[in-house]
Amino acid sequence: MGDLLGKLFEQHELTKEEMIYFLKHLTPDLKYRLFDLAVQTRKKFYNESVFMRGLIEFSNFCKQDCLYCGLRRSNSRAERYRLTEEEILECAAEGYRLGYRSFVLQSGEDCYFTEERMISLVKNMKAQYPDAAITLSIGERSEAFYRALFDAGTDRYLLRHEAASRSLYQALHPGMSYDNRVNCLWTLKKMGYQVGAGFMVGLPGQTCEHLAEDLLFLKELHPEMIGIGPFIPHSATPLKAAQGGTVEDTLVMIAMARLLIPDALMPATTAMGSLDREGREKALLAGSNVVMPILSPLKVREKYALYENKICMGDEAARCRSCIEMRIAAAGFKIELSRGDHCSFITHT
Ligand code: SF4
Repeated sequence: MGDLLGKLFEQHELTKEEMIYFLKHLTPDLKYRLFDLAVQTRKKFYNESVFMRGLIEFSNFCKQDCLYCGLRRSNSRAERYRLTEEEILECAAEGYRLGYRSFVLQSGEDCYFTEERMISLVKNMKAQYPDAAITLSIGERSEAFYRALFDAGTDRYLLRHEAASRSLYQALHPGMSYDNRVNCLWTLKKMGYQVGAGFMVGLPGQTCEHLAEDLLFLKELHPEMIGIGPFIPHSATPLKAAQGGTVEDTLVMIAMARLLIPDALMPATTAMGSLDREGREKALLAGSNVVMPILSPLKVREKYALYENKICMGDEAARCRSCIEMRIAAAGFKIELSRGDHCSFITHT
């Protein structure tokens, strides 16, 4: 086991069989060595920095029906909302005033936000905040759409791959295509976006084999950003009675992903903080280096419920920022409010 950990740290790779063996035989001691090596690795590329992204959840309408998600179209209990372009720009203005230079615009797959509307939004944000990076996280769209939004100034795109195992993906995503998901990610990557992929840990039916496939997929895609969080069952979904993932298992995946793709930007997710008060700090101490405080207006925050009991629902953006900054500093890290590009995208003048 020590040899496998050494290989992971020094060569940034393991075979699928080695990963499965490693996951099945991980002892508490080795786990702490794994976390320690993950932190060392992340420091080589990003020092002590934790990059801040202001998250604006602008619509919770979704045409998809993912079995685990509270925003799925079949959830008639969800109170749907859409922010107007003006409201979204107000959130960005508040974020900019607080110092953020990186914004993530996230929604369900909402057809109301057409190419034209999204171009208008991105162009207006870029005109007002030319020194800020814009990330979209709005699901599967056409190649032409991705191209148009890239040309409009979008810098990054988040699209979790969700499950690299075709059978697991299909079981969780009725009516969706595994091939299309993967194609979208490669298309975005080739187009020049900084791309984010990722998955949940602890999904019903997920095995060590599936997790190894997720890690190998990430290794092959080499996304600039990797989001890994625990599965948290939502009471208005078909998976309401499922067990859910643990913080501990998620930390192992974060640390392994850090060692396999050492230069990735990896959020300490809100889902981690929702399961465990110290969850985000623990993620930072297992290799994460990004935090995404919510900038959405208070009146809609609770409605963006991919899962329930989410933290930070009642805090003003300013309070959210100071709370998270205190936590990051207390964990021994340094807050970074700049655009926070992936190290391969930074141009030195
Ligand atoms: S996971 Fe995304 S695509 Fe699936 S139902 Fe939820 S918001 Fe829609």
